[in-house]
Amino acid sequence: MPKETPGKGNASPVDRVETASENKGGAVESGVSTPKTMKTKSKTADSKSQPKKSVAAKSKKGNVSSVKPKSVKKPAKSTKTKKPAAKSTKPKKTTSPALESKNEIESNPKSTLKVSNQIPKERRAKIERSLSNHKGKKRSEWDRAGGVKQHRFLKKRIKPGTIRKIKMPLLDVTMGDDWATPVTVIHGARPGPVVTVTGAVHGDELVGPLACSMLCQETMIGIGKALDAATMAGTVRIAPILNPPGFRRNSRYFPDGRDLNREFPGRENGNTTQRVASHIWDGLVQDCDYLIDLHTAARGRTNLPQIRADLVHPESNRVARAFGLEVILDSKGPRGTLRRVASDHGIGSVTYEGGGANFTDHEAVKVAVYGVLNVLRSLHVIPGHPSRPRFRLLASGSTWVRADEGGLVDMFVSSGSFVEKDDIIGRIMDPQRPGESADILSPERGLLICTANNPFVTAGTPVGHLLPINRGVQLVKRQLDAQNRLIISGSADEPPWRDEAEVDEIAIEGSWSGGAVDAEWQRDWAQPGLGDAESLASGAANSTADAVGEEESSEEEQ
Ligand SMILES: [Zn+2]
Repeated sequence: MPKETPGKGNASPVDRVETASENKGGAVESGVSTPKTMKTKSKTADSKSQPKKSVAAKSKKGNVSSVKPKSVKKPAKSTKTKKPAAKSTKPKKTTSPALESKNEIESNPKSTLKVSNQIPKERRAKIERSLSNHKGKKRSEWDRAGGVKQHRFLKKRIKPGTIRKIKMPLLDVTMGDDWATPVTVIHGARPGPVVTVTGAVHGDELVGPLACSMLCQETMIGIGKALDAATMAGTVRIAPILNPPGFRRNSRYFPDGRDLNREFPGRENGNTTQRVASHIWDGLVQDCDYLIDLHTAARGRTNLPQIRADLVHPESNRVARAFGLEVILDSKGPRGTLRRVASDHGIGSVTYEGGGANFTDHEAVKVAVYGVLNVLRSLHVIPGHPSRPRFRLLASGSTWVRADEGGLVDMFVSSGSFVEKDDIIGRIMDPQRPGESADILSPERGLLICTANNPFVTAGTPVGHLLPINRGVQLVKRQLDAQNRLIISGSADEPPWRDEAEVDEIAIEGSWSGGAVDAEWQRDWAQPGLGDAESLASGAANSTADAVGEEESSEEEQ
């Protein structure tokens, strides 16, 4: 069984919406957001002019549990352009200090759930209007009194309370490859919504296929497990690979060079990719109630785990929040994307983005699995309480950080890094002009939701995608690890698919002294102010005498 993120369920369910003046309209996925010219300082070999301020040097600041004086040990001063290898500045993954700081956050009763709202006023009003007009999805077929029906998928019938693995062909052919792809259908014993989870619409994005595979493991599916058809109310369809030829060739595209995620809902008699899109749309998606499409960043960059959804669409808004992540980008998505077409057809749909292409990002996979479970819990498809983040950043715009020189960039930060204005994001070096370098500075304070990992840059190449943060700064800072990276909800927890047998158990032998765990503790402390010293002393003696007889029966866990 998956573990609940500790304390998450206790967060206040009431979102406090802060007003914001900071608006940068523009769809995130279409890249229309306001580009900002980044400041680049050209450097010569003069090592004295090295900027003192670096992300590494100030990395401790945001961490509540760390001690300040230790912070200056990074190479910003000493190593100049000659040693690109000295990149220990790169933030590492979450370590134990991160957990400590997280626990501190959780023990702080003031940390209630908040929304740091960066969405323009008009858009916010539109979202609020559409949510208040929305009645909520209630279908007669979800009515428990009506009983459960067989689930139909690709002309096959699936009995209530059972699981079927079905191959879905993506082309109608009798010769050649039909690119059949596996779909696992878990049809609950009780009625409820149909939720479809998809991966590898882009063939080289491996987080989706992995997360889907994890969801289909024996540790997740079956009696008593997280996805138990016997207790499920509704149906879950899991399709790990929607682009099988691309997946086999490590390619984002279909063999005809097209991007499947621009061709929905497809055309039955169109080009190859359109035909595939049409099969997926008709067979897998159009009749479902909710869609979770799992993606990563395209080649050459890495995404901080995030959700993208059209927040004006009430059911999409609901799923976006239910996923349980800190970062939600409000956008309709480019034309022809599965998510956009699904939303337009009334399906509550979100895209999850985490990690990069051709790379098995363990953290991103784990967060995706937790997110899917959160959505299923929130929709009451499976039992349990969804975990909630400490805060949500709802964004409708961003700032791009670009290189202004060409060469090889050595990144000082990674996706999820929190940066202040003028922090060094990376350093560009041109191996043909040894000894020279140019620093890329952050144009403003914010959270990097995506960073480049392809070192080759020319002037204008984006190296970072920044969410400017002007509100809730302290809240965000309290959830940074020792390297100033945001600790994403679910990332610090155990993988939910881990088998019970894989958990090491260490036996500690002995017996409880006094017959109970807490028997040897002093019974109580004398309380001053209740009388004089003598009566206190005699009272204490009496209570000790009484306690002996009670000890076994009164043993309690603390
Ligand atoms: Zn993708």
